Amino acid sequence: MKIKLPNQETLVIEQTEVTIYEAAALIAKSLAKNAIAGRVNDVLLPLTAQLKDGDQLKIVTSTDGIKTRLAQYTTGLITALALKMSFPHVNIVDVKADFDSFYVDFQAEPTLKASDLQAVNINIKKIKKTAFKKWQLVTTNPKAALAFNPWLTNNDLQNQQIFYHPDQNVTLASPKLVPIPYRYINYWELTSLTGAYWQNQADQLMLQRLHGFGTSDEALFVQIKNRHEIALATDHRNINKKLDLFMFSPLVGQGLPLLLPAAIKIKNKIMNYIRQKEAEYDFLPVETPVLAQRKMYEMSGHLSHYEDSMFPAIKAGNETLILRPMACPHHIMIYKHYHPVSYRDLPIRFAEAAMLHRYEASGGLTGLERVRVMSLTDAHIFVRTDQIKHEFIRCFRLINGILADFRIKVDYLALALRDPNNTDKYYQDNTMWHTAEKMIRQALDEIGVEYQDQIGEAAFYGPKIDVQILNAQGHEITLATIQLDFLMPRKFGLTYIDENQQSQCPIMIHRSLIGTYERFLAIIIEQNKGLLPFWLCPDQIVIIPVNNAAHLLFCQEIAYTFKKLGISVRIDDSDERLGYKVRQAQMKAIPYLITIGDDEIKHHHLAVRRRSDNQIKKYSIAQFKRIISSMIRSKR
Ligand code: ZN
Repeated sequence: MKIKLPNQETLVIEQTEVTIYEAAALIAKSLAKNAIAGRVNDVLLPLTAQLKDGDQLKIVTSTDGIKTRLAQYTTGLITALALKMSFPHVNIVDVKADFDSFYVDFQAEPTLKASDLQAVNINIKKIKKTAFKKWQLVTTNPKAALAFNPWLTNNDLQNQQIFYHPDQNVTLASPKLVPIPYRYINYWELTSLTGAYWQNQADQLMLQRLHGFGTSDEALFVQIKNRHEIALATDHRNINKKLDLFMFSPLVGQGLPLLLPAAIKIKNKIMNYIRQKEAEYDFLPVETPVLAQRKMYEMSGHLSHYEDSMFPAIKAGNETLILRPMACPHHIMIYKHYHPVSYRDLPIRFAEAAMLHRYEASGGLTGLERVRVMSLTDAHIFVRTDQIKHEFIRCFRLINGILADFRIKVDYLALALRDPNNTDKYYQDNTMWHTAEKMIRQALDEIGVEYQDQIGEAAFYGPKIDVQILNAQGHEITLATIQLDFLMPRKFGLTYIDENQQSQCPIMIHRSLIGTYERFLAIIIEQNKGLLPFWLCPDQIVIIPVNNAAHLLFCQEIAYTFKKLGISVRIDDSDERLGYKVRQAQMKAIPYLITIGDDEIKHHHLAVRRRSDNQIKKYSIAQFKRIISSMIRSKR
């Protein structure tokens, strides 16, 4: 057979069957030694793949850039095998890799714990000694692969390469990556065990995800490890150990956070700020209960779409109640209270810090980031069709201003659209979808922001725009959202009277400013690496008397002056030594530390130390008041 090589060369082979590796050896022994995979007709294949007459072949070697990613992927494959070997009840679902890490998604009942990873590590060592060639590329009857991995989709079977390992019966689909010889995996580490939705879709089943990384050379390993350690240090769950913001109690229940005073001080500042912003934008505050009749969620469609993520219903008397997963229908009931509504009354905007309950899978609960009870910065706006664009722009400006004040790093904006080739999932009204999508596009273009289309990501009731950010672990999180909804107002029979005295159905906009307070706390803690800006700090100033007997009274006077400005001040009059108190305050990331001794009382000034440096600066009381007032004003 003839194989076409780069540079117009041709390799003529006598045999009728030859693998990529064997072809490499025929070209040059040294090439085979360094070969890790092959590109056949532009498709990356493992060295064990068979060649056909006329194939175009390029050997990928260990010096090629893609090696790093293939090494990550191969470490992921080995880890998947080791998982299955250690815990036969585990079902391997997927392995993915980038240049920095890999993860293995799996399903297990009972779920695995971090302490189980030791066994996995031992088996990784064993598997590394076996041949990578055992991975078989499934070329005939890919449907048979479903026997060992029912999670594979039709799309996987048609468009991806399917690999099968006979020892553990592990079957996986890979779009672009292939296993390489195990001798290139010399360093590896399993970093964490988290939860993840199947295919990263929030409405899908929760799986477990094992993260790790692996490389062939040590220098790269150390580099990647450092990056992972920085990510770990900024994880809000680790920062919480120092700042004491929240806790969980097994007696209270999984995913039900108890917010401690420091967190509530921050949350109250954010809430006051949000309330003020919402008032500026004419939102009307409402408050609605966390329970509602099951019937209401049947009508809204939530029950058929979200029942898996809802707590089971509670029977009480002759009512069946559920803990609400969303507040939309409650706000719809309030709108109905104002019937008949005139077209001149619209838009009507109801806002609430809405407490919601979602029955998240236990494997997916992550500190404050994913919990089972949460308060959403929620709002529902009822508008006429001709008001959609303007209202959309207004919401966007509001969100933009808020995120700027919190200095949130936005990753990108996603415009989630319906999949026109798969309209079954969506509310059936082509004209509505065209209009809605056009309006959002016009609004975004008018604002002049960049966004990414995401086909098939729309809600079933309409298109939406999501503000996406990255958390410390590099996972994508939706922070704010604006969603158009043509469906729910119809389901509940909402109306307004138009200028011709005709009854019309309003359109609803679901809007969240900063997502839930719980998740937002996690985000600002991570994005600020635990060093919150002054205006948000739970304790902003600590005053330390050098000598309690001589200086405490003056400290109390000073503290009172600042408290009147709304600043949270604490006096540390404990019996510890001054040096210890200073270190304590710095560890708690308190922005300003004021020490008061004889000299300060005599000259009526303050010795101020910032958390970022150890230098002491002297200010008059009036000077220092000006400094902190300006920081509060500019949200620094
Ligand atoms: Zn809603």
